[in-house]
Amino acid sequence: MPHTMTRRYLLKAGAMSATAFGIGKSLGSMPSSALGATHPAVSVLAGWKPGDPIGYINPSIPDFQLRSYQGKRYEVTVPDTLDLAERARVAVNGLTEPVYEPANFEVYSVFSPLSNPPSMTLLCWMEPWEEGWIDATTRNRLMSGSEQNPHVERRWLEVALKLQGADGLLYTPLKGRPWGLEGFQLSKAQAIKYPGDQLLQPYLCGCMLRSLAVYAKKDPNGPWKDSARRLIDGLNDLAVVDGEYAYFWPSFFSAAKNKPAHPPMPADPIEVEGTNVVLGLAEASQVLGYEPGLKLTKQVINYLRKTFYGLDGSFYSVPALEKNAHSGAHLRGLLGMEKYAEATGDKEVMEFVVRSFEYALSLDVNFTTGPGDESVFALTPGEELVGFFPDMTHSPYLETAETDGIGDLLALGTRLSEAGMGDYWDDVDRRVRNQLAENQLLEIDWIYDVSEKGPTAKATYNTTIDRVAERMRGGFAGNPSPNDWAGYGTKSGVGSCCTAYGCNGLYWVWEKILSYQEGKLKVNLLLNRASRWADVDSYIPYQGRVEVKIKEPVDLSIRIPEWVKPEQARCQIDGQERTLGWDGRYAKVGDVKAGNLAKLTFPISERTDKVWIEKREFTVVRKGNDVVSIDPPGVYRPLYQRQHYRQSQPRMRKVTRFVSEETL
Ligand SMILES: [Zn+2]
Repeated sequence: MPHTMTRRYLLKAGAMSATAFGIGKSLGSMPSSALGATHPAVSVLAGWKPGDPIGYINPSIPDFQLRSYQGKRYEVTVPDTLDLAERARVAVNGLTEPVYEPANFEVYSVFSPLSNPPSMTLLCWMEPWEEGWIDATTRNRLMSGSEQNPHVERRWLEVALKLQGADGLLYTPLKGRPWGLEGFQLSKAQAIKYPGDQLLQPYLCGCMLRSLAVYAKKDPNGPWKDSARRLIDGLNDLAVVDGEYAYFWPSFFSAAKNKPAHPPMPADPIEVEGTNVVLGLAEASQVLGYEPGLKLTKQVINYLRKTFYGLDGSFYSVPALEKNAHSGAHLRGLLGMEKYAEATGDKEVMEFVVRSFEYALSLDVNFTTGPGDESVFALTPGEELVGFFPDMTHSPYLETAETDGIGDLLALGTRLSEAGMGDYWDDVDRRVRNQLAENQLLEIDWIYDVSEKGPTAKATYNTTIDRVAERMRGGFAGNPSPNDWAGYGTKSGVGSCCTAYGCNGLYWVWEKILSYQEGKLKVNLLLNRASRWADVDSYIPYQGRVEVKIKEPVDLSIRIPEWVKPEQARCQIDGQERTLGWDGRYAKVGDVKAGNLAKLTFPISERTDKVWIEKREFTVVRKGNDVVSIDPPGVYRPLYQRQHYRQSQPRMRKVTRFVSEETL
């Protein structure tokens, strides 16, 4: 275990209560607070009390309006099947409730569902100003119309502006945040402190560029565009530019302004998390149409590719080593590269993204674990059927499926498919219906049942035990195993990063369920979705049936999933048979009018497979692409409790649809 402490090592360390179950590996250095027992150095807390002012670099900020989304709301009864808009409504709870009000609603970084009582802890990771947390919140509001806790979002945005120095860069204050170096990504001695006890983290700057980009679109007259442009300028000044490469020295987690003439390229495993800078730069530069930002994006991409990716797209933990590469960071990097390639038309980068994405997909098809295993593993695909993606690739340990990588993998799958770079809709469908959907925390009673047997947790200066499970509802799992939300008895069930990536993942898929262009409406995924053009009701997996209620006249086509043969599909418009044409997997329904009901039906049945997922054997029953049973079941919170899906009579439910007039 390296001396450095990444979040995922931290989560992993939480999971390593699993040592009790015979699965452990070395803990490495571990902040005590993450395990619920805090013994901070006296000096950290000296003179501090809750609610003390935080030493932001820029106390005076411009005013701005925070508008809620405008749109239509209406009640409908729909099949009780996966409904990403409804998931987004719960997600806004998981985004805006697990917060510490005295510190301007800073988000608790780690959630421990199995401590008694359940607890959550503030650490150095500074959500919501990291990981795209704030943009996830506004995206999930757009999907669902949720207006829960707007005051929290407003305060987050005020603080975002307060973090920005005169040089455009964002500074992380330690004054008033005594937990600010708890679990720090580097050793505490490596934290370079600027006047006023501030840290300068390109990592955080990159994360915030994503949020600024989204608010620049949502609120074009607000201060966000100017803030993003100044931040890009600041990063350009701070970066070490060496020919076609750019990086931050000595680290993406703590950068120095005074640099030697030719500082070496950082290559520690944790520096791959700098992919956040690429994603943020790409998104913000595109929104601003800002050439200096795009140029820097390409230079940082070059550094990351040289250091953490093989020419064939393989993922490296350190140059030329595939073992134990963090899948979430690498997939995030690919998403940033894909956005850069779309913004600039850079074919070489786009081809690399496709190559590397294919590599990622090949990783979660069962791999041989060594010579002699081929007959057992190679022919028994499993992970990609349920969307399990190992946290660390080519790892000798039992990995869990951190939500981060799954969210970005879904974004890549939908974007590359829509861009015509491949057909990954079925990959997306399997993953969103299974591991992503199951990773979201919806029911919480089980937490109180299992936590009663857990180690005692107490409230401390950075740990709370106040209504923790209720506040976490809607968040996403940090350490799920293939069959258990709290994989292997993890102590850290949610890493706040996972909630941000999971909630953004909901949006990436929801956005692309439909695509509309010049009168043509494509239904790409057979999932519930309301829109201005049509509302889709999906009966899958109860029945092989999808209904599209047309609201505007369109030329309609519907993609059928991989388990349906074209000749099995039948279409009716208002009860009248309609002959289908075909364009690949798309059934061409043709012209439909407002008020029409287009109904597509096909057979659906259960299949049982014996598969290997993350080095263990499971029996998986699927109906369509939905897993309806996995055996052996999980221990703490078994996944796939979906007996109702095995009936053919659909369970229905009443929901309030929200169709916004706005897009992001
Ligand atoms: Zn995470």
